[in-house]
Amino acid sequence: MPGELDLAFVLRLVPYRDADLVVTLLTQHHGLISLMARGARKSQKRFSGALDYLTLIRATFKKPRSGMGTLTAAESARSYEKIRGDLACYHLAMHFFEVTRLATREGDDANEPFLLLGHLLTLLERGGDRTTALRIFHLKTIAHLGYAPSELACASCGVGLQESGAHLHEGGLLCPPCGAGNGVPLSKSAVNAIVKTASLTYEEFRSFKISPAEEREIGPVVEAALVRALGAEPRSLEQLHEMLGT
Ligand SMILES: [Zn+2]
Repeated sequence: MPGELDLAFVLRLVPYRDADLVVTLLTQHHGLISLMARGARKSQKRFSGALDYLTLIRATFKKPRSGMGTLTAAESARSYEKIRGDLACYHLAMHFFEVTRLATREGDDANEPFLLLGHLLTLLERGGDRTTALRIFHLKTIAHLGYAPSELACASCGVGLQESGAHLHEGGLLCPPCGAGNGVPLSKSAVNAIVKTASLTYEEFRSFKISPAEEREIGPVVEAALVRALGAEPRSLEQLHEMLGT
């Protein structure tokens, strides 16, 4: 039996026993799956050396109804060499992989997260702006988790925030009347930058850039929203700040 065939990104590699690897893949059509790659640590040849981060692979696997499936073959469909050779870019990509893993469950349809990863890795590989790629990733992931920016509304009274600016509190964003006197004020242009970034099409990624002034305002807000949406703080976030100097 040849098994299933799909394109996939390697999100995580965990050594198992002496010779095996547990491979977590984000596939184009089969969602998130964890598979046993037998003998992967003993022989690089076994999977043509393709089992690595920053390689889009063609994976062949057998997936039983229950329990862990088996990766039977893998070959490289595309390798992101420029990202691999740039430490800050590499950490950014690893952050994408960790957050995608936290945001996706096995059995979920993950075609959108798969396409998002592909477009953002291509953007970074071509030298695109890292901070912009990071915030696109965060806001698209937040939206995928069900927190749409078009519903960006005051956490207290529910009024829309696009026209008014906002105040950032621990409980979320508040409109100026509700948040007056405390919290971090967020300008109308920052609120609009969030909405614009979240609604970009893949084709618009390349020509879009978040300005340093916008980033100073929206960075902390976006990350607080991401942590709330995930229900956990990604371990890669703090190190990423050191790498990007943010
Ligand atoms: Zn309000």
